[in-house]
Amino acid sequence: MQDRNTYKLLTPGPLTTTPSVKEAMLIDRCTWDQDYNDITQDIRARLLRLAHADNGEYTSVLMQGSGTFGVESVLTSIPSKDDVVLVLVNGAYSERMVKILQLQEVKHCRLDFAWDKMPDAASVEAFLSTHPEVTMVSMVHSETTSGLLNDIAAIGKVVKGRGLTFIVDAMSSFGGVDIDVPAIGIDFIISSANKCIQGVPGFSFIIARREALLKSEGNARSLSLDLFDQWQTMEKAGGKWRYTSPTHVVAAFHQAMVELDAEGGIKARHERYAKCNAQLRAGMEALGFKAYIAAHDQGPIITTFFYPEGFKVNFPEMHAFLKENGYVIYPGKLTEAETFRLGNIGEIYPADIERIIELFRIYKEQHHA
Ligand SMILES: *Cc1c(COP(=O)(O)O)cnc(C)c1O
Repeated sequence: MQDRNTYKLLTPGPLTTTPSVKEAMLIDRCTWDQDYNDITQDIRARLLRLAHADNGEYTSVLMQGSGTFGVESVLTSIPSKDDVVLVLVNGAYSERMVKILQLQEVKHCRLDFAWDKMPDAASVEAFLSTHPEVTMVSMVHSETTSGLLNDIAAIGKVVKGRGLTFIVDAMSSFGGVDIDVPAIGIDFIISSANKCIQGVPGFSFIIARREALLKSEGNARSLSLDLFDQWQTMEKAGGKWRYTSPTHVVAAFHQAMVELDAEGGIKARHERYAKCNAQLRAGMEALGFKAYIAAHDQGPIITTFFYPEGFKVNFPEMHAFLKENGYVIYPGKLTEAETFRLGNIGEIYPADIERIIELFRIYKEQHHA
């Protein structure tokens, strides 16, 4: 089959997928058929393996919608009326968690950090010691706003030390960064189909500690996003989703999981991402585009760049130039400075990075005072 793409996405989901992942969508499947439900069951089992979790202690649930639907499902289905959720805020995606909790009137509080710094365990410990009402802690792993990779293991120690529930949005890291979910003590980890596992958009997934999920029965504030109910249907009906599932997306995701294994699993994928990211940072910095996050805190997924001094900034024009030449990039998401972002997940290889740096060199020559 001919791939009709005329450009690659340097955006962290949707991202560039393989022709074989797209090809898996060329069959129309019935949601009642066992062969289709077997695909769902195999995805659920594979997700647990990627998380280093065993089927006795953990389970996995797939949820229709984009990644945010998965986060909203957890934050509105898990806390009871008496629970208080602490959100560690250092970017737009943790801000979004707070907004979800506000809208559904779930009891919560927040602890803010600079957007270019990771939440530190000592501050979280100090906050918790003066806020005994907190029962759950929620944070983002890879902050796609900035490119920062937060230290979930250090925070996990504090959270688990106090016996609290730990919720992690690992949307743009799961599958591309190795996460030992049981060792860190994560109770709920959320990601979606169109990020590091390299599927297409259409559903999110949650890996949950069974005991914590079981306790949440009846807590959901929404019918469609009821995590407990969704899980019960999937468990009891052998992989059947509660309501119409995105059948084509599920098939593509399954193919993407097979291809992740073929690449050599998370370790190999992480190496490719980290290599491309280091090459990108070095090449862009040599051209005068400084990265927002310090090298030792930079995650391998996405990088936020400042423009060089004297650069005539016109993002739409720069975006158009790059797209014409084969690559799509993201605008910045910071409020305090003009930036842009380059993702390097998906079917992106060192040759692509070399090419994008060359395009920036050409563009800069034309737009630098
Ligand atoms: C992509 C992403 C989400 C979900 O975004 P959607 O647009 O709803 O898919 C949530 N958190 C993080 C950190 C993300 O990168």
